[in-house]
Amino acid sequence: MNIHEYQAKAVLKEYGVPVPRGGAAFSVEDAVRAASELGGPVWVVKAQIHAGGRGKGGGVKVVKSLDDVRKEAERMLGMTLVTHQTGPKGRVVNRLYVEEGAAIARELYLSLLVDRSTSRVSVVASTEGGMDIEEVAAHTPEKIVSFSIDPATGVFPHHGRSLVKTLKLEGPAAKQALPLLKALYKAFVEKDMDMLEINPLIVTGDGDLRVLDAKVSFDSNALYRHEDIKALRDIAEEDEKEIEASNYDLSYIALDGEIGCMVNGAGLAMATMDIIKLYGSEPANFLDVGGGASKEKVTAAFKIITSDPNVKGILVNIFGGIMRCDIIAEGVIAAVKEVGLKVPLVVRLEGTNVEQGKAIIRDSGLNVIAANDLSDAAEKVVAAVKGAA
Ligand code: GDP
Ligand code: MN
Repeated sequence: MNIHEYQAKAVLKEYGVPVPRGGAAFSVEDAVRAASELGGPVWVVKAQIHAGGRGKGGGVKVVKSLDDVRKEAERMLGMTLVTHQTGPKGRVVNRLYVEEGAAIARELYLSLLVDRSTSRVSVVASTEGGMDIEEVAAHTPEKIVSFSIDPATGVFPHHGRSLVKTLKLEGPAAKQALPLLKALYKAFVEKDMDMLEINPLIVTGDGDLRVLDAKVSFDSNALYRHEDIKALRDIAEEDEKEIEASNYDLSYIALDGEIGCMVNGAGLAMATMDIIKLYGSEPANFLDVGGGASKEKVTAAFKIITSDPNVKGILVNIFGGIMRCDIIAEGVIAAVKEVGLKVPLVVRLEGTNVEQGKAIIRDSGLNVIAANDLSDAAEKVVAAVKGAA
């Protein structure tokens, strides 16, 4: 789960991380009020969306008067902000954050993430922070340094020294590196974050470290033990189909392709996506209906797939183990009756009650293309989609 920058900063502040003072705003009046409470003389008006690259897209403005705070707030609220992370559709800005302005001497990069391969927390740091970190990663990757922290022992002073050396810190900033890393690490572990990215971490004109931007995501599997974090969820930022899927406990991820997939089991779902690509098309989603799905769940899944306007064909690929093929067949039929079927549908069933399942589909009178195995199914759905185009 992702949260907004202003929420991330509030969480980090609880751990003693140095963040600028600021106030969230849902309206222009809120923004002006927040700015006058902060006092000036410099403010930064920041669009709050769950994506980075806002600065380049016009979503971060440094201003020097309350009039300009108002102007920028009017401009940003309701705008569709397009950044390299939002995709071409962009995101509508519904919230702002107004902060006290900071004098920036240097912009650095610092992030913490879970490294599954070593079961440790990776610290990634670079002197080249700011809005071009992607360029740095692509062209001068040697400027990005990483080291890891063993969760069994936590942060040691040598980690702080590594950070000082990597970021070329001096004076007060050098002294602040270890306490900052400890505070970030504590927040990261206690709140079950899976990513904490600070870009930029700045050295101020006075030589102090300060967190100017923060992007945090949490491990959704651990949210049950963090009511405070759960409350920060902003569903306006999430894909509607993914929200609907989570209501039915379906594992659904929207993708950019044209073939909607309904599969049981994450492994089979991945294999199905691969084989669709092999036959020359792209999956529109990842969808695992799970082991013991009910007819209602299958119906919901089918509706979610068909609500995606990019879907030009649907592939149902079920290996019935615990899941019975007749239940899948009934769910598919019920869903088609409810929402109609405007695109080709290929169904491949195998396993428990496969004959009943096939009979239900055959007797339904629906225009369903039956397939015998995985590659047959992929070939047929891709052919149907290409033929229809
Ligand atoms: P992002 O583009 O979505 O990552 O948004 P950031 O919060 O990182 O802001 C983008 C850029 O705006 C930063 O890299 C800074 O250069 C600049 N910026 C943000 N806050 C301030 C500030 O308080 N003072 C000044 N001078 N620049 C700022
Ligand atoms: Mn940033």
